[in-house]
Amino acid sequence: LSDKLGKVFSKLKNHGKLNEKDVKEAMREVKMALLEADVSFPVVKDFVAKVSERAVGSEVMNSLTPAQQVIDIVHDELIQLMGTDTARIDFPSKPPCVIMMCGLQGAGKTTHTAKLAKYLKKQNRRPLLVACDIYRPAAIDQLKVVGASVDAHVFEMGQTNPVKIAKESIKYAKDNGFDVVILDTAGRLHIDEDLMKELKDIKAEVQPNEILLVVDSMTGQDAVNVAKSFNDMLDITGVILTKLDGDTRGGAALSVLSVTGKPIKFAGVGEKTDDLEQFHPNRMADRILGMGDVLSLIEKAKINVDEKEQEKLAKRLQENKFDMNDLYAQFEQIEKMGSISSLIKMIPGVAGKVKEEDIDERRMYRTKAIISSMTKKEREKPSIIDAKRKRRIAAGSGTKVEDVNQLLKQFDGMQKMMKQMGLKGGKKRKFPKFP
Ligand code: GDP
Ligand code: MG
Repeated sequence: LSDKLGKVFSKLKNHGKLNEKDVKEAMREVKMALLEADVSFPVVKDFVAKVSERAVGSEVMNSLTPAQQVIDIVHDELIQLMGTDTARIDFPSKPPCVIMMCGLQGAGKTTHTAKLAKYLKKQNRRPLLVACDIYRPAAIDQLKVVGASVDAHVFEMGQTNPVKIAKESIKYAKDNGFDVVILDTAGRLHIDEDLMKELKDIKAEVQPNEILLVVDSMTGQDAVNVAKSFNDMLDITGVILTKLDGDTRGGAALSVLSVTGKPIKFAGVGEKTDDLEQFHPNRMADRILGMGDVLSLIEKAKINVDEKEQEKLAKRLQENKFDMNDLYAQFEQIEKMGSISSLIKMIPGVAGKVKEEDIDERRMYRTKAIISSMTKKEREKPSIIDAKRKRRIAAGSGTKVEDVNQLLKQFDGMQKMMKQMGLKGGKKRKFPKFP
């Protein structure tokens, strides 16, 4: 009995509230993570101050250490700041809906005009693309090419005054039954007055329903000035964050948000016309903090799973020793817990890459079967798996060599991702220790 009481007391001791020291320590990590993600310094300073204030004095939850608790609050605040999952185009009751794309040169306006057209066509809209960028050589042709690739009609009047083009295009849309007009405007390498005046004139002429600022997520620090100028001049309605398929951590998202207060509506994730997604604040928060969702995986698992097992896993993650034996054990735990879809997304390297509908339970069982057909050595060091071994594993698990290859490739990607996240605990940024 006294043993039991002892446990209760030691648990209670871990409770309490976060003090300034706890918060300060964890915030150092957070600050670094944000700066590494290219969030601009003033934004980081503001954010950290705000979150610190909220964190000090809040209850430490049973399952978390103080440092984890702070990170948890930070994560939460980031999501809050980045808005809702459901940002979408605002359609007027009377068509056409006019969407004006604006942004610096090379941000991705023309590409995203086409992506948006494709996206809207899937919703049974009839978009008209309008070539208002008359300055860059071949800009009109570029729009025609991408427009054709998504089977959308392009309206152009050559090198005419863009304000006039915009005005005429709306008339044309009305006459020809187009219910969305997307204006692909010109950009400049830097913000200048001529550009802003032109955009303001277009806005005044056509009164767009949406003014979407297209921002290159790789533009780190500069994003603040760009977003501020455009928003001050045009009062934008939302943002499209492009090139998130690159290896940027996407700190621009935070900078843009904090200066404009406007929602990020879409994310561009590649050069193809299909590479457009709704913006997901929670994924972005993970990405900016650079941590997959390891914390929540461990947190969630703690509730359901043998704590010893989980401690072992956390330690292996931290030491970057996570191998296929662990992956197998993890699958077993997941099975115990029920919902695969909610958990698989939290496995590092998989987070953000898996869409709900892609999660195929049968595939997980197949994966498990493949791993069971490996020897312990092979699971520890998949690099020794040569062609002969692959054939044996495939035969043993009733799968094909391609399946084995695919798993090995995925696992390799996962390990790389973990390394990138700096879980190794070496010279790279180190997140607070798991319990
Ligand atoms: P604009 O000057 O703003 O019209 O920019 P463009 O639409 O012409 O895009 C500039 C370059 O960025 C082109 O080479 C595009 O293929 C590329 N690009 C645009 N969006 C994305 C994206 O989301 N991911 C990647 N990887 N490239 C993109
Ligand atoms: Mg363009």
